[in-house]
Amino acid sequence: METPLKITPPPYAEQALALLEQAGFEAWYVGGCVRDAMLGRPPEDWDITTNALPGETSSCFQDFPCIDTGLKHGTVTAVEITTFRSDGVYTDHRHPEAVEFSKTLTEDLSRRDFTINAMAYHPARGLMDPFDGLSDLKNRILRCVGDPARRFSEDALRILRCLRFSSVLGFAIDPATAEALRSLRELLLAISHERVREELSKLLSGKITDSVLRDYDSVIFTVLPELASMKGCTQETPYHCFDVWEHTLHALAAVPQIPVLRWAALFHDCGKPAVKSFSSDGTAHFYRHEKKSLELAKRCLTRLRFSRRETETICTLISCHGEPFPISEKRLKRLLGKLGNELLFSLFDLMGGDIAAQAPFLYAERSRAITEAKELTEKLLQQEDCLTLRDLAVNGNDLMELGIPPGPIMGSVLEALLEQVLDGELANEKSVLLEEAEKRRLSFSGRE
Ligand code: ATP
Ligand code: MG
Repeated sequence: METPLKITPPPYAEQALALLEQAGFEAWYVGGCVRDAMLGRPPEDWDITTNALPGETSSCFQDFPCIDTGLKHGTVTAVEITTFRSDGVYTDHRHPEAVEFSKTLTEDLSRRDFTINAMAYHPARGLMDPFDGLSDLKNRILRCVGDPARRFSEDALRILRCLRFSSVLGFAIDPATAEALRSLRELLLAISHERVREELSKLLSGKITDSVLRDYDSVIFTVLPELASMKGCTQETPYHCFDVWEHTLHALAAVPQIPVLRWAALFHDCGKPAVKSFSSDGTAHFYRHEKKSLELAKRCLTRLRFSRRETETICTLISCHGEPFPISEKRLKRLLGKLGNELLFSLFDLMGGDIAAQAPFLYAERSRAITEAKELTEKLLQQEDCLTLRDLAVNGNDLMELGIPPGPIMGSVLEALLEQVLDGELANEKSVLLEEAEKRRLSFSGRE
C-alpha cells in the first residue's frame, strides 16, 4: 500500500503499537490522530485500534505501568487503545444497544463518523483508507461514512461534530451530508446538554465559525432557540449596517478564538429583538438590551450545565459590553476593580469585535478609544492604585474603633470611602479616611 504522507507519532505511542505487534496482534493508529498528523496539526490524543481483546491488551502492558490502556492522563497527550469493534443497533439516537468486537479493521473503520476520521495508519503497512478519506482530506470535505441520514440517526451528536470539524478545520460539508444533518437536526434534542456544550464550545472557537453558523443557523437555533429571533431583526440606526444576527456573526469572528469570549460574543446582543422600539423618526432603539441578553444567556448556560465560573465570566462580559465611549479614567478604575485585569482585557477584546461589526464610519474613533483604555489600564496597574475595598487604607477594624458597628452601615461607609478615593476626592491615607469616616458616623448617629 502506498504511504502518501509520513506520520511521526510520539515515542510512547510507537512503543504501545510495537508491544501489541510483538505479542502477535494487529495494531494501527486510527481516527483523529491520523487525520491531524496528515494535516500537520498536533493531534490531541493518539488512538490505537487492535484485534487484541481488552484483557489481552492489558496483559501486553502489565510490565509497563507508565502506559495506560484506555486511560487519559492529564495534560500529557494520551494513548488510547481500543479493540476493533462494530456498533450494534441504535435506538435512542445516542448510544448503540451493544458494542461488538469485530475481527477486521475495515469493520472498525466503517462505524466511524466521517471519511477523514476513518483512516488507519501503520508505519510498515501504510495507510488503510477504505472510504477514500484521503481524497476528502485533500479536497477539504466532510462526508459521512455510509448513508448520512442513517449515521446521524444512529448518533445525533455527529451533527454537531460535523459542524465542529467544519468550523475548526475550515472544511466544506458535502451536500448530501449537509442536507441530512439539516433535516435531522431535531434529533439533537435527545443528546445530553454536557455533550452539546462541549461540541458547541469547540465549534465556536474555530476559524470559519461565522460561516458555519450562517450556513447552518437552523441547526444552531435547534440547540440554542434563544438566538433565533436575532435573524432578520433589522437595526434602523446610523450605528449599524447589519441585522442583529449578521452583526453577531461578524463580531464573533473578530474576537480571539477563546471559548468564553466566543460565547460572550454569541450572546452579547441576543436580547435586542425583545427590547426593540422605534422613535417617531423611525430610528430603532434597543434600550437596556444588555440586561435581556444576560437573562437569555443565563438561561442557555444553565441549561447547558456550564460551570459557575464560566457562567460568571461570560455573563460579566455580556453585561459590560455596552460601556460608552470613550471610557473615562473613573469608569476604568471601577471596571478594573470589579472585573480584575484579565477579564477587563477580555472585555476590550469583546468590545473590539463588537465595533468591527458596526457601521464602518465609527470604527477608527472607537478603536482608538479602546487602545487608549488599554494603555490607561496598564498605567493604572503599574501605579498600584487603590481599586477595591481590599486596597483601601482603612478596614473594618479601624472603623469599629471609631464606634461604627459591623454590618450594613459599616459596609456602606467603606463603599462610600472607596468611591471617593476612586474619584480622586480623597487620598488613600489612613488619617484622611478615618476623618471622613468619623464625619459619616456622626451623620448616621444624627439620623438615629
Ligand atoms: P478531537 O480529538 O480533535 O476532538 P477526534 O476525531 O480525534 O477529534 P475523538 O472524540 O477523539 O475525535 O474520537 C476519535 C475517533 O473516534 C474519531 O476520529 C472517529 O473516528 C471516532 N468517533 C468519535 N466519536 C464518534 C461518533 N460519535 N461516531 C462515530 N465515530 C466517532
Ligand atoms: Mg481525538
